[in-house]
Amino acid sequence: MENQIQEAPSEISTKPKRTRRPNKRPRNNDEAQNGVQSNTQVGHEAVTTGSGKNAIWSIEDFPVAKVDGKLRFHDLNLPDRVIKSIAEMGFEYCSEIQAETLPMTLLGYDIIGQAQTGTGKTAAFLIAMISDFLDYPLEEKRPNNFARGLIIAPTRELAIQIADEAVKLTSNCHLNVVTLVGGLSYEKQKIALETENVDILVATPGRLLDFARSRKVQLGKVECLVLDEADRMLSMGFIPDVKSIIRMTPHKELRQTMLFSATFPKDIQALAQQWTYFPKEVSVVPKEATNQNIDQVIYTVEADQKWPVLKQLINENGGQRTIIFANRRDETRDLYERLRKANINCAILSGEVAQDKRVKTLNNFKEGIIQVLVATDVAGRGIHVDNVELVVNYSLPEDPEDYVHRIGRTGRGGETGKSVSFASEDDAFMIPEIERVVGESIRCEYMVDTSL
Ligand code: AMP
Repeated sequence: MENQIQEAPSEISTKPKRTRRPNKRPRNNDEAQNGVQSNTQVGHEAVTTGSGKNAIWSIEDFPVAKVDGKLRFHDLNLPDRVIKSIAEMGFEYCSEIQAETLPMTLLGYDIIGQAQTGTGKTAAFLIAMISDFLDYPLEEKRPNNFARGLIIAPTRELAIQIADEAVKLTSNCHLNVVTLVGGLSYEKQKIALETENVDILVATPGRLLDFARSRKVQLGKVECLVLDEADRMLSMGFIPDVKSIIRMTPHKELRQTMLFSATFPKDIQALAQQWTYFPKEVSVVPKEATNQNIDQVIYTVEADQKWPVLKQLINENGGQRTIIFANRRDETRDLYERLRKANINCAILSGEVAQDKRVKTLNNFKEGIIQVLVATDVAGRGIHVDNVELVVNYSLPEDPEDYVHRIGRTGRGGETGKSVSFASEDDAFMIPEIERVVGESIRCEYMVDTSL
């Protein structure tokens, strides 16, 4: 399919893509009745803006002052129903990635975006997708299981968090979000596909391919495709699955494609060009790859001092929301047991924990019921929890890029955060490579357990 239409030149062009969208609904129809929309979505039930309490709302109810150098969501001509959800989420000004991408994605351009987690990239692609679907309602009836928007993420946690944000952003319109991820009940997901409109589908590659191959979900009419954390999909070996999935979607000229990745190794650069059409390239990664709000320190410790130093650190930072990363599952298990015995309120998030338990654990962590989370890279990837105050690397990651992802769990949304990385004789050799990736040298302190 990808080869049937002549390839567009790979250089970036200003050619807009809106020709694939001839019938924009006039904004007046949408917003004239204080956000109450008429039933223009064939095949979907009549839409009103939210329930009774929300029925009357106008953008004037969401005053945001104009500030030099900041883009307000008001300035983007978004549908009121999207703005209302944005207001309810407490966002006022676009984050950098949103300000860089939305003016283009709203015009229909494809995007190749370099952005790390914590920059607001999820809302960036969701707002574009949702606004597009509201502006261009379906013109013909089709079965429920045809996806309009498809978001592929490498991990279940990330997919679930994207879906959560999508549910919030669609809370004032009748676009429906369906999540297909491995590890959770296949049967429930099958029923969702049979009974709900698949307006926005958020999925991990393996489970999605299962459903798509058995035609329980149809991808042939996907209008907007998002590939999130593409570099992680590559490192987790998902690219063959992703290729198969993309082949089931319309040709790139007929869909909008947004690809995000924290890093752009050569393979991802090539795939990004192959999968997008006249893409706009955007990068919001600062010179240093890591968030400037994070105070980073490396504790050089003897291997047998790691545990006592960790215990001391957690006790000193009593009550702080903390994620501890370790490299292997057995290491996380061992740490979890030790923390539990030390009466530290903790839970484990690794691949060997059943998915429903992982979701529950993450919720408990978000709500502050759990203080310390012990995680592996895969399970910890994409954890969207605000106010994580401390990230500890109990062992340095084998892949230096993971260092950036790990510490990116803290210092999110403009908050300050702290990361402490233990380097022992076994892994201290990794430090220069990590510093090269983050683009700065990291303060080192020699630590011993002083509580003895
Ligand atoms: P992300 O990079 O998508 O993981 O987003 C990081 C965090 O920033 C999430 O908790 C979002 O809810 C939050 N966020 C996204 N956009 C904005 C915005 N414009 N203003 C404030 N917070 C935001």
